[in-house]
This record gives sequence, structure tokens and C-alpha cells, in this order.
Amino acid sequence: MRNLNLSELSGLAIGLGRTYRMLEKMPRVSRDEMLAWQLGKIRNLVQHAYLKIPFYKALYSGAGFQLGDLKTWEDFRRLPVVKKDDVVANYPERMLEAGYDLDRLIVSRSSGSSGKVLDIAYDQRAMSTFILAGLRLYRMGFRYLPWHKHLYVYTSPYPLSSLFGLYPLHFVSTLTPIPEIVSALRRVRPALLVCYPSHLRQIAAAIPDKERNSLGLKVISVNSEMSTQLERDELKRQFGCPVLDEYSSEELTRIAAQCLSGSYHIFEDINYMEVLDDSGKPVDGLGVLVGTNLHNYAMPMIRYQQNDLGSIHESKCGCGWRFRSLTQLEGRRNDSFIMPSGKVLSSGFLLDATYEFLLNYRTAIREFCLIQESCGSVTLQIVPDSGWSNEVSSKIAQRFRNLLEADVSFQITVVEACEKTKSGKQNPIVCRVKTVG
Ligand SMILES: [Zn+2]
Repeated sequence: MRNLNLSELSGLAIGLGRTYRMLEKMPRVSRDEMLAWQLGKIRNLVQHAYLKIPFYKALYSGAGFQLGDLKTWEDFRRLPVVKKDDVVANYPERMLEAGYDLDRLIVSRSSGSSGKVLDIAYDQRAMSTFILAGLRLYRMGFRYLPWHKHLYVYTSPYPLSSLFGLYPLHFVSTLTPIPEIVSALRRVRPALLVCYPSHLRQIAAAIPDKERNSLGLKVISVNSEMSTQLERDELKRQFGCPVLDEYSSEELTRIAAQCLSGSYHIFEDINYMEVLDDSGKPVDGLGVLVGTNLHNYAMPMIRYQQNDLGSIHESKCGCGWRFRSLTQLEGRRNDSFIMPSGKVLSSGFLLDATYEFLLNYRTAIREFCLIQESCGSVTLQIVPDSGWSNEVSSKIAQRFRNLLEADVSFQITVVEACEKTKSGKQNPIVCRVKTVG
């Protein structure tokens, strides 16, 4: 993701007051008010998508939808669900409004969770809202003040390093060895730490007991990988500050996060979230999470299917928020690898290693699957694209050999299609090593 330029930063600062007031107010409005507000936003968004975005025009016309047809939630639920493959296949020409200059948008690239490259473009206004929604998210955990330092261990830097010196951000790559992450924590002394749960466990193990409590941390936010409440409670005890889980995606941005009262609140003013069964009908229990982002007009995500399962319920929460709660969340499980020494390479670490080559060789790879065949052997399956070459292949191989242990062999095989599981799901990280216990 590129950095915000001066004019975008100024826009963010100017819009800060207005948007932030909206974000402060929305968690407290009644369910009926919220639904009415969401439907209004969705009607505008669907109209825009139908008129301006070729992909949606074709999709909705094909389903017999005409402009003006969307008046009620029932009408909305008749719109087809959009899947990741649709977005990948139609990006950029058919997913963006004609005339949008990609250079003026902010593009986020990810390896996603199915092994396919996924680009999502945000317009400036939407990006400002998402940045401020991030600020609100962290304020759910502590009184986040402009001089508090925020250290995040992530795949790539955010598009800004501070807001004119306020809310300073410190980036550390997820591929950084744990001792260096610990050094950064000691040097920066952040109030807020954001990282994967697997990193946090390793950080905890690398810092002596009595030092962990005196690092100056006020809250830790974990994301991207599954962690249990039990684990987070234990990490809270070890670090002496709340450890809260957060659920986001590149496509829908901020989806949900835990508050200090223990609810996992859906951000109803960022996305309209639905839970559907296999036939696409709303379901009360566990189902597929489908979201409509209410803000991104550059590349609308309307009834977009996340590859996660969850359930959502109304709740009365001690924090005073009236946003519904995510009561179950499953599906962020990818395999991890076990090295001959017993060291575990987490799915998050492996996904980031693959994300690195997708970023470096943007036209080289269409799909991939990283497979640990046996304890001492890892294979990367590649469906090549136009930029694939022997040179790219040997650079990727060299990088992976450095990340794996010395006695693990690594090879790349070029295939026509990456393999899928019995249920047809494609998993970018596959471990075939059977573990005991
Ligand atoms: Zn709450």
C-alpha cells in the first residue's frame, strides 16, 4: 500500500472531526435506527454500483434486477452473493468505475486465504473512514491519546506513519525474527501493540516474567489467526494488560473487535454483516459471513462472502454499545509447519512469506499453494503468470530456503491448477506431516 500524500493527509485531518463524531455516535443508536441508516447507505451504494461498475451491472441485470428495485431488506437479500474469485477475475477494469485513476486510489494487495492474489482499491474518503474506525477500535481497549505510541507487527506498513505527528505508528514486518521484535518493543515502548497471536506467544516466551509487566503496554490487539479466550486471558495475565481480538479483512476492512466487557462487536457503521446457510438463506446459528462495506465507492463490496464462518446476535453489553455481537468465529485456521527441530512456523508467518513474493513479483504468479510434504520437504506449487521466469523462481527458492531450517529441502513445481481439498476449498498452506498427540 502506498503512503498517503500531503493532500490526502490534509483531507483526513479535515474530515477527522466530522467522521469521528459519526463513528462515536453510531454504536449507541437503536437497532431500528441503525437498520434504517444502513438500508439508506446500501441503496445509494447499490445504485452507484449498478450504474457505474461493469461487474455489478452485468451481475444484477443477469439476476433480473432493475434500478429502483431495491426498497426493502427483502429486495437486498435477492441480490447475488459475490465471491473472491469474481473479484479476482474482474479486477481492475470491471470492478472499478470507468475513469477512476488507479494512481489516485489506495490499493491493498493480499494473498488472501485461498492462495489467489487479491487487490482491493479504496477511495480517499473511504480510507479516511477506515483509519478513524481503526482509531475507535483501539479506543475500545484503552484511552488512546495522541502521544501514545502504536507498534504493529504486520505484512506491510499502513499508508501513514502518524497524523501530523500525532498517534505515531511504528511498523515491524511479520517476517522479523522474534528477538528483533522484542528489541523494538524495548526501544519504542508502545502503549499499544498489534500483532498475530502466534507472535505474541513467542514474544511472551522471549521476555523475562518480571519485565513483561513493565514494558508500558496498555493494551494488546491480536488479529488474523485464531486464538481462544483462554489463551488471551493467559497472555493478559503475562503482560498485565488486556489482550483483545480483532477481525478485519482487506475486502471489508474493519469487521468486528472485542470490547473490555467481553463482547465481540460488529462494526455496523462500517459493514452490514449477514450470516447465510449453504443455500444463501439467513441463518440464526453458525453460517457463512457475508458483508457489505458501506463506504468504499471506488470498488464496492456488496454481499461479499468472506471465507469464514460465524454467528451474530443482538446483545446488551456493559460497555454501552448497541452493535450486535459476533458470538462465534471460525475459519481463520490455516495449517502451520513443523520444522525438524520441533520449531513451529505459524500459518500467519507462512502466509506473509508468500505475500512477500506476491508483492515483489506482481506479474509472475497467478495462484500458489505451499505444501509441507514431509518433515524435511516443502514444495511450492505455482500457477505461473506472464512475468514468471527462471530468475524469479530461483529468487523465491533462495528466500524460502533461508526461512526454513537448513536440512529442509525446498522445491518449486509449476502446475496448471493448484490442488483443492475434498470439499473443493483451496488452502494456500497445507501441512501433510502427521503429528502425534
Ligand atoms: Zn461491549
